[in-house]
Amino acid sequence: MNQVTLVRGGHVLTMGPAGDLEDGAVAFADGEVLAVGPFAEIAGRFPDAPVVGDDRGVVLPGLVNAHTHLSEALLCGMGEDLTLFEWGQRLVTPAGRHLTREMARVGAMLKGAELLLSGVSCVNDMFCHTNQGSLASLGAVDGLEAMGLRGVIAFGAEDAADPWPVAEVLSEHHALAGRCAAAERIGFRLGVGTVLGQTDELLGASAAEARANGWAVHTHLAEVKEEVVQARLRWGETTIGRAGSVGLLEVPLLAAHCVWVHQQEIAALARAGAAVVHNPVANMILASGVCPVPALRQAGIPVGIGTDGPASNDSQNMLEAVKVAALLQKLARLDPRALTAGDVLAMATLEGARALGLDALIGSLEPGKRADLVRLRGDRPGLANVHDPRQQVVYCCSPADVADVWVDGVRRVADGRLVDHDLAALVEASRPLAAELITRAGLDGFSRLARPRASSRANPEPAGG
Ligand SMILES: [Zn+2]
Repeated sequence: MNQVTLVRGGHVLTMGPAGDLEDGAVAFADGEVLAVGPFAEIAGRFPDAPVVGDDRGVVLPGLVNAHTHLSEALLCGMGEDLTLFEWGQRLVTPAGRHLTREMARVGAMLKGAELLLSGVSCVNDMFCHTNQGSLASLGAVDGLEAMGLRGVIAFGAEDAADPWPVAEVLSEHHALAGRCAAAERIGFRLGVGTVLGQTDELLGASAAEARANGWAVHTHLAEVKEEVVQARLRWGETTIGRAGSVGLLEVPLLAAHCVWVHQQEIAALARAGAAVVHNPVANMILASGVCPVPALRQAGIPVGIGTDGPASNDSQNMLEAVKVAALLQKLARLDPRALTAGDVLAMATLEGARALGLDALIGSLEPGKRADLVRLRGDRPGLANVHDPRQQVVYCCSPADVADVWVDGVRRVADGRLVDHDLAALVEASRPLAAELITRAGLDGFSRLARPRASSRANPEPAGG
């Protein structure tokens, strides 16, 4: 066995059988958790192990961001006044036609840094593009692997707006599956960008391909009301109904959003063993609606939390998404008990891992699981006086409180800084690619990047495509 490391916290929220520990510690070696318990006991078992942390901070499992789009990494801060359909048509779809594998790699590294620095150790990405033949989705694996993150990646294929031969779409799924298999810690799902965004031919072929290969599927479902209306006009059933009709409920399905669902659909998702990802910030920024999180969870559906993409959030600050998940339910239901700090922390760790089918590996701190953990520092205002560690992590902490992050036992953030990369260099590397993407996609109306600096004005023009 290699060197054992101990991580100590004034509070260790294991999210597992050991519960919440005061002055606790986690011991791990070779990427595997060996023991979790009171610090004095763990230090006695491993007297020679170096200790990171103290009796002030909070230690918890690495956060699981269960839904994002690294394909939007270079597009944050645009189009806040658009609805989902407008935003897709005018902003994301034009950009998706010009994404390259290099843009994907650099974007995934940039946003991977933002994820790590907000306490995320595992991210589920749906990479959406229509740059045919580019295999751009594979760049997301290149980028996440370079950052040392754990992840799952799907190619969010769509062919209704931009025709794309079905065989070629399936071939990118296979190429991505192969690239993921060659990467450490990166899993694969077959992606269906949206049910409405696919032709009937591709939708049927995608479901059949997933069944034939034993692949799990990641898609968006019932995100906005217009989606339900258009689906009923097209097929006489909702997108959840259509997903069932084509066989997508017969494979492990992870559905982002599920905002516009009725009780029978919730029951159908539960019967199918499907999982849901709630994306509160994106739902609010696009004015999509309020996901019935308590009803989904009461039905036994695992519900994770996602930031959603950098163009629909627009940050990858997972701690913010966790806080907003609780606030949105409390406000929408006028009930402060609707979703508690304990609920959202569970959703952002073990329940998110369950939604991804990774709960045997990660999501809680317990012996035998992988050593994915985050330490929040106790020397800042957020955790100065810890009355209730769960409430304090959710309501008081920000990325500035993230001291250390380990993924598979490897420290990727130390004392609030990336261990393996120069953050300023990542930012710099992204700039020419963002400018190139804006120009090629004709998004100049949304962005200052395409304009000379000297022409900047006090009052920016309203966004327009
Ligand atoms: Zn999404």
